[in-house]
Amino acid sequence: MTRHYDYLAIGAGSGGIASANRAAIRGAKAAVIEAKAVGGTCVNVGCVPKKVMWYGAHIAEALKYSSAYGFDVKQQGFDWQTLVTNREAYIERIHGGYQRGFASNGVDFIEGFATFVDANTVEVNGERITADHITIAVGGRPLIPAIEGAEHGIDSDGFFALTERPKKAVVVGAGYIAVEIAGVLHALGSDAHLLVRGDRPLRYFDKDITDALLERMQQDQLQLHTGCIVAKVEKQADGLLTVHCEDGRQLADVDCLIWAIGRVPATDKINLAAAGVNADEQGFIRTDKYQNTNVPGIYAVGDITGEAQLTPVAIKAGRLLAERLFNPDLPDAHMDYSQIPTIVFSHPPIGTVGLTEAEAREVHGDDITVYRSQFAAMYNAITPHRALSTFKLICVGKEQRVIGIHGIGEGMDEILQGFAVAMKMGATKADFDATVALHPTSAEEFVTMR
Ligand code: NDP
Repeated sequence: MTRHYDYLAIGAGSGGIASANRAAIRGAKAAVIEAKAVGGTCVNVGCVPKKVMWYGAHIAEALKYSSAYGFDVKQQGFDWQTLVTNREAYIERIHGGYQRGFASNGVDFIEGFATFVDANTVEVNGERITADHITIAVGGRPLIPAIEGAEHGIDSDGFFALTERPKKAVVVGAGYIAVEIAGVLHALGSDAHLLVRGDRPLRYFDKDITDALLERMQQDQLQLHTGCIVAKVEKQADGLLTVHCEDGRQLADVDCLIWAIGRVPATDKINLAAAGVNADEQGFIRTDKYQNTNVPGIYAVGDITGEAQLTPVAIKAGRLLAERLFNPDLPDAHMDYSQIPTIVFSHPPIGTVGLTEAEAREVHGDDITVYRSQFAAMYNAITPHRALSTFKLICVGKEQRVIGIHGIGEGMDEILQGFAVAMKMGATKADFDATVALHPTSAEEFVTMR
């Protein structure tokens, strides 16, 4: 007999899990299918292991400057494998938590690779399963460039599989992943090189913020190579790599080359055609605001949609979809894709929500007011590492409604969330000014800017 569900999610990443759990909580018979590890990119080869590595890097930095705080610490070494072992044990506990969640909500977890048979049927492990509602939440995978010798490099999945610290690492790319991996490697003691094609990484971020990032990289001696397009990769006789750039620059004796040039959707193998679901030329499944694809009863959430490829976005979109489908009180539930805050776990972290100054000028012309603050966070101020933080507010109109909040500095990763709430509520500069500062913190700069 064919198994039948009210709701079926293909892919147990952030979006698939969240939607299936919420569907079950609302009374639907739900299942989620996963071919790899439960938790998807975020938990296994993304946000979670990255943040653990970033904390490791944070500790390395704290140790470096601890003498200014009076500590006489002799560093006896750093064991990459210990960090990796503890990180993976933590991830195992998260896997367990997901399985307990499925069990208590009554969600069936099906291990295997699903392919569409028709718009209501998938096949997994030779079994046909039908469902009234099917959500495609299969995410993406890293992109490898089509150049000679590219196969000698690894991607972000490979970075998390490293069993020892690279001696000389080259990270190619200019997005979140490249910046975060290069920063971690540098702080943990690798000779790290970041290769970008343009004049800076994160070029879509506010320029004041990336200017500050460049300054920090220079100050911290992370080697940034700008205007560098990789032409080919050559394996040396000793097994190490030489990375050749188009302009003749070379980086030799590289023991770890990491491609971080973007991610592609993983739609190619699930037989979308059998269900009649359209993907765009890159393979993303574009949806309307309700996560509907072009086929009734088939939805898409998360990275596969090409919209804001962030875990909390996939979770929210998945939960709201389940509410719309199975909660009669919320027939219009849908994700609001505006004003999504994000953090880049660089060194120090960058936080951003809303329009950059350039975007705001394009939309509102001279109707914007920009406030900036540059300051030395107290944490650094008593050390030789007297680096500056840069915070910025973009406001529009006479009432000075806040439409952009940007910052790079210690603590920015934890500061932004509350301010993003204020912005979402329509806060004005006067509201910020009327809020009493928390002293002494970096966050108070946002309510004391003039
Ligand atoms: P991104 O798409 O963000 O960035 C990749 C960048 O690499 C491009 O923007 C481009 O920048 C550069 N690039 C592209 N092709 C090449 C090439 N052939 N050679 C050199 N450089 C190239 O991808 P990521 O992989 O960094 O991240 C994927 C997604 O994952 C992001 O969209 C983000 O949403 C998410 N993510 C979020 C994190 C977080 O929230 N902290 C952490 C990690 C990932 P340019 O054109 O300037 O050269």
